Amino acid sequence: MDEQGYRYKGPEEYHALIGQVMAGLGYVGGYETENIGARIFLSDENGIIDLTCVFTRDDKKWESRASIIRYGHVREDIKNCLMHWHERFTGNKTGPWGTLMGVRPTKLVHHFFDKEFGDKETIAVLQQQYQVEKETAERLVHMSRLQRPFVMEPQNHVALYVGIPYCSSHCLYCSFPSRLVGTEEQDILQSFSRALERDLQDLSRLCRQYSFTVDTVYIGGGTPTCLPIGILEDIVRSVAANFSPVQEWTVEAGRPDTAAKEKLALLRQYGVDRISVNPQTMQQRILDALGRHHRVEDIYTMFDNCRDLGFSVINMDFIAGLPTQNIKDMQENMEIVCQLWPENVTIHTLALKKRAPLFHHPLRDRIPSQEDVTRMLEYCDAILVEKGYTPYYMYRQKYMAASFANVGYAFSDAIGKYNIQMMEERQTVLAAGPGGATKFINLPNHRLEKLYMPKEVNTYMASLEEKMQMRRKLCAYIYGGEDR
Ligand code: SF4
Repeated sequence: MDEQGYRYKGPEEYHALIGQVMAGLGYVGGYETENIGARIFLSDENGIIDLTCVFTRDDKKWESRASIIRYGHVREDIKNCLMHWHERFTGNKTGPWGTLMGVRPTKLVHHFFDKEFGDKETIAVLQQQYQVEKETAERLVHMSRLQRPFVMEPQNHVALYVGIPYCSSHCLYCSFPSRLVGTEEQDILQSFSRALERDLQDLSRLCRQYSFTVDTVYIGGGTPTCLPIGILEDIVRSVAANFSPVQEWTVEAGRPDTAAKEKLALLRQYGVDRISVNPQTMQQRILDALGRHHRVEDIYTMFDNCRDLGFSVINMDFIAGLPTQNIKDMQENMEIVCQLWPENVTIHTLALKKRAPLFHHPLRDRIPSQEDVTRMLEYCDAILVEKGYTPYYMYRQKYMAASFANVGYAFSDAIGKYNIQMMEERQTVLAAGPGGATKFINLPNHRLEKLYMPKEVNTYMASLEEKMQMRRKLCAYIYGGEDR
């Protein structure tokens, strides 16, 4: 992928905005590539913002400058300037998302629905005010209508996320800071499991105190099923004891090399009803190159085991844009989906992140072009919709080029409530475990009050008491009552 980077010089308060806009235009952060295609300079003095952008491509150079009075919609003005200049420089239109920024485009649609806009009216606003292409606007509105009942649930109905920061090996493209279970001391795993149990009990107390009902549970990571079976059992037993029954309980089983049938049976025994089997792709050469230590056949075996054990929903994740992947590979992936019929399919796009080993790996040069990735995504979408899957949630990633999004598809009776609520941020999400982000909804504006657990396992364990106390205080501050 011929990546263009940008560099920014100016006050820190605008850095995130500039990053978001430039990512939307397909530029990566300036320290992630030597190939700098845009330099942005911003100064903010005496109420006047001076914005300059210099675009370069090969030996073509184009500079533009604007002065913006620091009044009203200044962030919107900066965004529009950059997008407009980029369009003039490249001759390319802004793309299907228009000037819509941010990773959760359906959140804006729900905002219009809150104001009782109808579907046609919302599509028109997206097209006229945000220059979103018609087809994209229609899809956003259709998806948001589908999500609407799930985001309108009573505020005391909450979701629970449990983070397990372990994996069996490190995939080349992954930036998640997981530890390898095989190199971890047994007593650290035991201590981690005991800490997580305390964390879960503390959340359970909050639920009783504030009359929260946990509707959905998601155990993710990392790969939770890579834990030794005894530790995995301690964790699922604790979740079941503190929160069952729930409407949906999902576990990310990810890789077949971690999910022997007895572990899957254990999950079923405690009430897990949804499972993610994540091949990412079905070609052995790519799996090997990515460091996923299993055979393609193992994915089929795991899938069959999940069916035999009676999980009501099986999800399969795929990634478009993996090194050496081509359109034929993706066609093969979708043919396999059509044979296996998982109830959910999630299509991700590779986001090259600085912390991923792929970032400095020779295979980085074998990442397919944006055009090829676009074709793969279009192919997946067409075939999945034709076969009866509905796109029901989506998010764009910070590092993705303008038109890419990760999309979750489901049969209409197998929509994942947790995925919608997590994405739309209208429901409180309680989180236990390293890296977990508890998000309390502060009505009436649906403002989020967040509390993050440290990502690193030892830091998590060492600071758990302090963090639980902060979480209780935050909850008491939002919903009233005393921290006990
Ligand atoms: S299994 Fe998932 S979380 Fe673990 S290294 Fe691979 S991509 Fe990352």
